[in-house]
Amino acid sequence: MGLRSIKEIFITGHGPSSSHTMGPHFACQYILKKYKDIKNITVTLYGSLALTGKGHLTDHIIDLSLKDYPHEVKFDYKTVTEHPNTMTFEVTTSKGVFSENVISIGGGSIITVDNLLDTKIKEIYPHRYMKNIMDYCLSNDISLYQYVADHEDKDTYDYFKKVLKVMDDAVERGLKADGYLPGSLKVKRKAKAMHENMEHTTLGENDVAMNVAIASFAVAEENASGGIIVTAPTCGSAGVIPGCIKYLRMKGVSDENIIKGLMVAGLFGIVCKMNASVSGAECGCQAEIGVACSMGAAMIAHCFGKNTIDIVQSAEIALEHSLGLTCDPVDGYVQIPCIERCALFAIKAINAVKLAVIIPDDDIHVSYDDSVKTMYKTGLDMNPNYKETSLGGLAETLANEE
Ligand code: SF4
Repeated sequence: MGLRSIKEIFITGHGPSSSHTMGPHFACQYILKKYKDIKNITVTLYGSLALTGKGHLTDHIIDLSLKDYPHEVKFDYKTVTEHPNTMTFEVTTSKGVFSENVISIGGGSIITVDNLLDTKIKEIYPHRYMKNIMDYCLSNDISLYQYVADHEDKDTYDYFKKVLKVMDDAVERGLKADGYLPGSLKVKRKAKAMHENMEHTTLGENDVAMNVAIASFAVAEENASGGIIVTAPTCGSAGVIPGCIKYLRMKGVSDENIIKGLMVAGLFGIVCKMNASVSGAECGCQAEIGVACSMGAAMIAHCFGKNTIDIVQSAEIALEHSLGLTCDPVDGYVQIPCIERCALFAIKAINAVKLAVIIPDDDIHVSYDDSVKTMYKTGLDMNPNYKETSLGGLAETLANEE
């Protein structure tokens, strides 16, 4: 079994959550396409979809998606489903009542419980693990970018050109906006103020970490406001890659090279998604921001012309040192800790590359696949309170302070 297209890692849409808004939206579209003469639809949300659905605007997006049909959204907080992001559609048509379970598996992708549906099921790569991909590239003397370009459709470069434009637009909008993010937390939008404050600091306006952080904040705040962003690999982690792009631009890297770097990043994202998870509800934030950090490191290493071993090692270091990262969005909103976390992990991606290029290549003990496998196992073992339920961590601490 090989890998699917990297395009499913980078999906343009409205925030704030790929699994809690994009996935349910695609699920509604699937139901509306499949059933004719619909009289009524009841959608029941389970697990993380129920526990953090209000903060993630899940009910709102379902209302919008089903606005032309009588419908109801129910939250079932008690029933435990095999996958935490499960929803049941009960569809009444002129032919009877039909029930269908759909799972939002992260990054906007959905499957049915019996796996009959996956919006982008086609596997286009012959390899599934990074070791096999590396071996193939090294023995055929091709770069990771070339490997991706050889297997994806011819329109892929243009697809990623648009991805870069959407990311740039999100940064621009985020830097202009002020006021408060939606929801009960009353979190102020900060990217604009941070940008204005930067020149007054002793570090100066060319400080890399501050510039990277501001770009990440701008996009993460756009996401939290329901603005248009690109999943990379999810909505909650959408600020990481734009932060890394800011760094590349500061270093004079061309847009053409950045677009190719995004394609390389996608390869690492799809390896994680297909061999582990990119869902915070399934595996914690290591699967979202940890994977984004790993993708960002791969992109930066590619753009600096590093060899295949260094690119993979950069991505590995970034993922390895994100292991165990929990998901606890305060009050169910993709705001605290998500926004600051995007910024810090963009900076971490840069540092992972710096570390990888000075560590000798002949003494590597942990492979990328080892880290992916560990991330998945750690995620499955993680206490559910730390997997997008807002029942533990900061969410619990702050709730108890009120
Ligand atoms: S803590 Fe991480 S995984 Fe959880 S909602 Fe925020 S960004 Fe997503």
